Amino acid sequence: MQDIKKRFWIQQTRLILVVMAGAVSSTTFGSWLTSGHLDPSARAQAVLTSAAMSAVVASLLLAYTLRQTMRYLRLHLRVRHMANCDDLTGLANRRSFTEKATARLADAASAQIGLLLVDIDWFKRVNDTYGHEAGDETLIQMANTLIHAAPEGALVARLGGEEFTILCTVDDEKQLEDIAETVRKATEAAGFIYRGDHIRVTISLGLSVARPGDTLSTLLNRADRALYDAKSRGRNRFALAA
Ligand code: GH3
Ligand code: MG
Ligand code: MG
Repeated sequence: MQDIKKRFWIQQTRLILVVMAGAVSSTTFGSWLTSGHLDPSARAQAVLTSAAMSAVVASLLLAYTLRQTMRYLRLHLRVRHMANCDDLTGLANRRSFTEKATARLADAASAQIGLLLVDIDWFKRVNDTYGHEAGDETLIQMANTLIHAAPEGALVARLGGEEFTILCTVDDEKQLEDIAETVRKATEAAGFIYRGDHIRVTISLGLSVARPGDTLSTLLNRADRALYDAKSRGRNRFALAA
């Protein structure tokens, strides 16, 4: 986002300088060429007046086009945000996660990639007991917990419903398990009050570490099977894919 804005202002500044220099120098030169019959002071005045007028006209036109371009930039940023972010939690959505995670897997020649699939336990009960809005608030709180508990540089996304994911670089399976336990404990500890009700949830996690030849889809499939394992062994725990 910052990058796009920075590039925009560099381009606009370059455009303003080129247009102003072009407009002023061409009109100045034109008026100097056509005012040879005037005496020197009148000629200087004619040249200065045309330079000043062209500068004013160019500024007005540039101000107008800059305003239009800024509108398009704002629209572009909004559309980009809508395409990449989950509108409830603000996390990356599945589409954006797929794009970024695929790129990270392709780049990860030296580092190992670990994936955590996170699913809230008995989430339907939260909706049924406290209402859908409380459920939404739980998802927002869950996203905050994940952002804070995930390692620095990790990709955190909401894949849909009450299912989230974290993709990060790890040295080995043990480190991935440590991350899972940190996230699990942080969730367990992070209750919140919603309209007088104290809501607390737990999560189950399926973990997988990328192997040579893995695609995002095979990595997710293994984590999904591990998640199923964690659920069937009683929930509020993690399981590492075999
Ligand atoms: P399990 O421990 O097996 O995962 O049980 P669960 O209740 O979490 O799973 P289940 O698949 O039975 O229910 C998921 C619920 O999540 C059902 C659906 O209504 C709810 N849900 C999905 N997306 C949203 C959402 O955006 N907001 C809210 N409030 N609820 C949602
Ligand atoms: Mg689920
Ligand atoms: Mg669930």
